[in-house]
Amino acid sequence: MGLMSGKKGFVFGVANDRSLAWYIAERLHAEGAQLGFNYLPNPKMERRVRQLAEPIGAKVIVPCDVTSDEQIGAALHQARETLGPLDFVVHSVAYASQQALYNPFYKTSRADFAQAMEISVYSFVAVCQAAVPHLADKAAILTLTYMGSVKMIPGYNVMGVCKAALESSMRYLAAELGREKRARVNALSAGPCRTLSSAGISGFDKMLQHYPTKAPLERNIESEEVGKSGLYLLSDLSSGVTGEVHYVDAGYNIIGW
Ligand code: NAD
Repeated sequence: MGLMSGKKGFVFGVANDRSLAWYIAERLHAEGAQLGFNYLPNPKMERRVRQLAEPIGAKVIVPCDVTSDEQIGAALHQARETLGPLDFVVHSVAYASQQALYNPFYKTSRADFAQAMEISVYSFVAVCQAAVPHLADKAAILTLTYMGSVKMIPGYNVMGVCKAALESSMRYLAAELGREKRARVNALSAGPCRTLSSAGISGFDKMLQHYPTKAPLERNIESEEVGKSGLYLLSDLSSGVTGEVHYVDAGYNIIGW
């Protein structure tokens, strides 16, 4: 009997086998969970996600751009119809335009700011909103964040502002969904890991070099560690934990010099 035996859930945000969502999904599957996945609606993404999800027996693999309430609603509805009430939902989605990540933050355009906030923050509210009627009792919801929410990280720019809003949204959602559905809502704050998205952060290589010089564990994290902590936050092991930003960063965030 695995830790997630009999549990069913939906994962937003797998793009390839380096996606943090995929590391979490692999752990959940290894512990017996049944999973549904979305893919960003285009043939390349569909192919990539199917290649990963079909071998682990995923019965729901659906197109969903999180800027569409209809697509979010349809994805979660299909997951509920196929799998039954959802015990967990993973939100591992973020986007900011290239110019917003490369230019100085003060030059962020209104349109780029709004787009980053819509895809990286509001989508979490929209996912939770659509998920509520489909949740099992005591469900767990998880989003992915980064320390650029609370400190200025060179090159993280508008995404840092998005993560601040995401973490705040997470707390409001935790308070409300805890009372309404006995659901838990948490955020996992990962240290830098090489993924498709992180390749878009200017200075990302410098981050990877800098962390081992300051972090208490004197190293970067492995994406597998995001998977393990994701499993903790989505399983009964964290049954008393909600509204938390849980750092998985080799301790980097506690250092002040
Ligand atoms: P990733 O590129 O693998 O995942 C990002 C996902 O967002 C992709 O699957 C992409 O398809 C999806 N996405 C973007 N726009 C979308 C839209 N409009 N509709 C639906 N999906 C959309 O990269 P990742 O690093 O695994 O990122 C996942 C999460 O982890 C993000 O929230 C990211 O900010 C966060 N995070 C990453 C790191 C890191 O170092 N990689 C560190 C901390 C937090």
